[in-house]
Amino acid sequence: MEQVGRLFITGQPEAILCRWEVVGAALQLQERAFEGRTWTLELQRARLSLGGFNEDQIVLQTEGMTFYAGRPELEKPLRALGLMHIHQALGREASRVRHNVRMSYVWAGMLFLLLALSGLFGWWVTDRMVDAAAAMTPVSWDIELGRTCYKSLGFAARENHDPRLVRPLQNLADQLTRPYQDQGLAFEIHLINDPQVNAFALPGGQIIVCTGLLENAEGADELVGVLAHEVQHVVQRHGVRSIYSQLRWQLALTVLVGDSSQLHAQLLSSATFLAGLSYSRDHESEADRQGLALLAQLQWSQQGLLKFFQRLDKQQGEMEKHLKYLSTHPASAERKAALEKMLSPVSAEKSIPLDWSALRSALGRGSQDVSPGRQ
Ligand SMILES: [Zn+2]
Repeated sequence: MEQVGRLFITGQPEAILCRWEVVGAALQLQERAFEGRTWTLELQRARLSLGGFNEDQIVLQTEGMTFYAGRPELEKPLRALGLMHIHQALGREASRVRHNVRMSYVWAGMLFLLLALSGLFGWWVTDRMVDAAAAMTPVSWDIELGRTCYKSLGFAARENHDPRLVRPLQNLADQLTRPYQDQGLAFEIHLINDPQVNAFALPGGQIIVCTGLLENAEGADELVGVLAHEVQHVVQRHGVRSIYSQLRWQLALTVLVGDSSQLHAQLLSSATFLAGLSYSRDHESEADRQGLALLAQLQWSQQGLLKFFQRLDKQQGEMEKHLKYLSTHPASAERKAALEKMLSPVSAEKSIPLDWSALRSALGRGSQDVSPGRQ
């Protein structure tokens, strides 16, 4: 195979493409062009280094000439000459290249670390920002935000006012929220005629339960499990916090300047956006944890939420489109395992103050009252 390199002659800007061959202690170069010129590069007097993009070229320099050729082809014949200074230069250069490669790993590592740290710092700052903004936000804004959001959802027309259903639900909600009475929240429970197995909470205390959830739950413990979880989204102010963490850096200036009227405007303009928002995994597991703690405090059964998830999981195939609760509250294996771990040993359990069969039969009769063709 023909061996080719590039020759630079001092004073000429263009490289000359040459064939090379080791002859005695010299490199014979011949220009590749038709009937090209020839040069002799005396290796005794040449200085050797490695160069090129990947240090994969051998660079030989003598007075007035610099020649580049591929290291894989040229190194072996050069070593075979047994010239001491060439040997030494090859060894020295190889260890320099190895050192540079090591250093480039070190630099890449340091750069990566720096990026990771700045990411963490950004995250930390955002977290502190959300805390600061939440501290600047009076609970009355949560309530205003929740009510605005509820209106924007347009559920009012489908609200079920049947006292046989709403009263026991309200009674449960009252007991679940009693420990938070001094927090200034305004809990309002809404039962919506909707076959979806779903319940969700909006800031300030709006808790929405779909009739599909009551139809699908298999006992008061499952219902209170879901409600205790939703109450915690309100108490832990997850709605306001979610909006603030979405606003991120827009928030920074507002918080630094301490301009709460600006914050109020930012919050309320997000009311419709909140309707489409689902809570983060951290918020979900906090609501699970605190919800179970609340049930333990009331000495009510803690098993319901987990049982509910396990059953929904089995039914997932059959009634996918109605299982809205799973899309906003994904019952991942981790989440179920975490719930299982969080369950505290059963102490003297009180019975849940709800007549489940009365509620279910009222629900059955209620749905029969609806004439066919109406939703
Ligand atoms: Zn949730």
